[in-house]
Parts: sequence; C-alpha cells; structure tokens
Amino acid sequence: MTRRAIVAANWKMNGDLTLVDTMVTGLKNMQLQKNVNVVICPSFILLSELSNKANKQKLNKAIHVGAQNVSEHKSGAYTGEVSTDMLNELSVKFAIIGHSERRSYYQETSRQIAYKVKAALDAGLTPILCIGESEVERATEQTETILSAQLQPVIDEVGIEKFIDVVIAYEPVWAIGTGKTASSEMAQETHQFIRQFLASANEEVADKVPLLYGGSVNASNCDELFAQPDIDGGLIGGASLNVEQFKQICLAAKGK
Ligand code: PEP
Repeated sequence: MTRRAIVAANWKMNGDLTLVDTMVTGLKNMQLQKNVNVVICPSFILLSELSNKANKQKLNKAIHVGAQNVSEHKSGAYTGEVSTDMLNELSVKFAIIGHSERRSYYQETSRQIAYKVKAALDAGLTPILCIGESEVERATEQTETILSAQLQPVIDEVGIEKFIDVVIAYEPVWAIGTGKTASSEMAQETHQFIRQFLASANEEVADKVPLLYGGSVNASNCDELFAQPDIDGGLIGGASLNVEQFKQICLAAKGK
C-alpha cells in the first residue's frame, strides 16, 4: 500500500503579498521526501498572486495552491461567494471544506459541507474535509459519534468510492490555535477510528485516503505525530505563517 503524505498550510485571515513572496522564495529549493504534497491555502484574494509566483519561480510540482473554502453553487446570485470554476481558473487544486471555524462562526452544517465536497469533486478539486470534536464532546466520550455524524452525510452525498480523491483533516477543535496538541497516541487512536469507519464502507478506499492531523502542529511536535501509522501529514495554521517553521514541518512528512 502507498499513501501520499500532505502538509497543508491554512493561513486563515492572515498573510499578505509579502508573505506570498517570502513563502514562494523560501520553499523554492525545498527537497521534499518522495510521495509528499504541500498545499498552501491563503485567503481568496491572494490566490492569484500565489499561483502566478509559484508558476514563475518554477516551484516544485509537489507544491500546490489551495483555497480555504468554496461555494456549493455553480454560479449566480450568491454575494461574497467563490465558485469551483473561479478556483480552477487560478490553478487552485485543493479546497479546505468544513473547517471548524466555518462550522461554528458561519453555521455551516454537515449537509452543506457535503454539497461543497461534491461541488469540489465534480470540478476536479481535491477537498480537504475537516472534522473534529469539541472539548466537551471529547470529555463526554462523544468523539466517535461526532466524527461519524460529520463523515456520514458526505459519504451519503458523494459515495464512498469518491473518497479516493478526498483528503480528511482530523482537527480536535480544542487543539486549534490553543497550543494544546492532542498526544500522538490520542491522535493515532482517533485517526485509526476514522480509517476503520471508512473501511466499514470500503476497505480499499480507506487504505488510500490521506488522514491529516491538525491542531497546534509545529516544528517540535510534527515528527512524533507524523510517525504514527494512520497520520499522513498535517493541516497547519499558526506555524504555516512562518516560512522556516513551515518548511521543517514539510520536510518531516513521508508517504506511507
Ligand atoms: C487550523 O486552523 O486548521 C489549525 C490547525 O490551526 P493551528 O495549527 O494554529 O492550531
């Protein structure tokens, strides 16, 4: 079995033209391990600049541009939204979908997230589907129920076979931006549950889906996390804004 590793940067509502420039220059000669992809997801307005710079500077073909969200609609009267066609026009290859900040601040439901995953897949974009439990849900032993409830509507909408083109990011909400990382044992145990949940629908697909861990990953804890058998890389927030730190995280990733 070979499973690629992915390190994705989620800049959230941070970063500017200068960071795009620094990042592209900083990653230019990076020698990634075999079977590793890097994805940089800045805000929508920086996508064009990042795509152009990556192209001009002939960035490693394993480094891709990603969006932080995408509309489930094809086009039309949806003020403020960005469609899959618009992303494709800018050579964007990935889209983060269902980040916990979208679920909680913008009331995105698992059903709507399922439609977004479908729209992304239909347009040839790779969705990075985010799932994760809150601190209370973990404390009350509801983690597996919550993760299943976040995954099932997407499986129902797109079909398990299509998960071969989906990346899942497990991000415990209590670990995002808090400095509280899940222990590597806890992260592995949860990733193993996610893989088994997918395997109960299709074992072959489950073996191939990259499962990323997200939540306060940094250059000091990435080695231990990425060494776990079911952790295939990370979704990186804060640490992805620092080129040197992000580079170290990218270099720690290996395909399995
Ligand atoms: C995220 O926003 O997806 C994230 C994991 O953030 P941080 O790394 O800052 O916890």
